[in-house]
Amino acid sequence: MDTSCILLNGDYTFLCLIDWKKAMKLVFTGKVKILKYSEKIIRSISGVFRIPAVLVLIKVVRSIYKSRVPFSKKNVLIRDRHTCAYCGKSSKRLTIDHVIPRSKGGKTDFDNCVSCCEDCNNKKGSKTPRQAGMRLLKRPYQPTISEFVRIRLKQSGVYELLVEIGIY
Ligand SMILES: [Zn+2]
Repeated sequence: MDTSCILLNGDYTFLCLIDWKKAMKLVFTGKVKILKYSEKIIRSISGVFRIPAVLVLIKVVRSIYKSRVPFSKKNVLIRDRHTCAYCGKSSKRLTIDHVIPRSKGGKTDFDNCVSCCEDCNNKKGSKTPRQAGMRLLKRPYQPTISEFVRIRLKQSGVYELLVEIGIY
């Protein structure tokens, strides 16, 4: 069961997803207000209670992303929506491709890395896309924080919920 809750900052911007235990702890310590409950119910020794879906911090804290989205394989896959940047197929087994290969001085950053399926990765090897006769569907780029947060919200299925309660 997916019991993650959305935690909004004190200014109602998205902060992160947290698990329900952490969410309940924040509720009990008075650090958050519950904006919306989920349909999920937890039964414990102390009783039955409904898990919150959206929480907002009483205070504004500094965002987890200070100025830019940090580079990681996971974040490249999120930016590319878990699809191959060359053939557009979505796959659970995506790897990271250096558009300009590392052996040719390509950097490991958002501007040079894309998600790539195994077939395309094998075909490309350590060539540039031109040498391999392949084309990128979209040029890689450093995602902005707000764009990235929106992608993450959509992927976690909570975007509609935030639209519904008037946050996005
Ligand atoms: Zn592919």
